[in-house]
Amino acid sequence: MEQIVPLFLKYEWWQIVAIFLALSAPVAVYCIFKNFNLTEWRKARDERHRERMQSCCPHAERVLQENGVVYFKPLINSSVKTREGVCSECGKSFLHGRTAVLDTAVHYEMHIETYQERAKEYNTLAKKYGKRLLNVK
Ligand SMILES: [Zn+2]
Repeated sequence: MEQIVPLFLKYEWWQIVAIFLALSAPVAVYCIFKNFNLTEWRKARDERHRERMQSCCPHAERVLQENGVVYFKPLINSSVKTREGVCSECGKSFLHGRTAVLDTAVHYEMHIETYQERAKEYNTLAKKYGKRLLNVK
């Protein structure tokens, strides 16, 4: 102990603090990553992304045909055997798929601005997460 004190006296106070930080940083990093599970973190992140996409997905896409006719193509696919429908873009499931398909198409025909707002919001997230973009105009 008597040999250590004169050793520290030849340094400035900030040098001593820097030495302690440099020695404790690897220990802190080890403690953080010891309990860190990359697979669980990725699962939680993907779930968070999916929920955000589902919250703003319009579940329909505006399609412009060659003859100039514009219509809304619902992205909700429902099989013949079940009533349930699933959106092909965001993966959200609907209890009554066929009614949801009709509802989205009719709703967006009447409220185009609602579709444009949702599609823009969806495209912002889709760009961020690397998904397919929807046609806004
Ligand atoms: Zn959707």
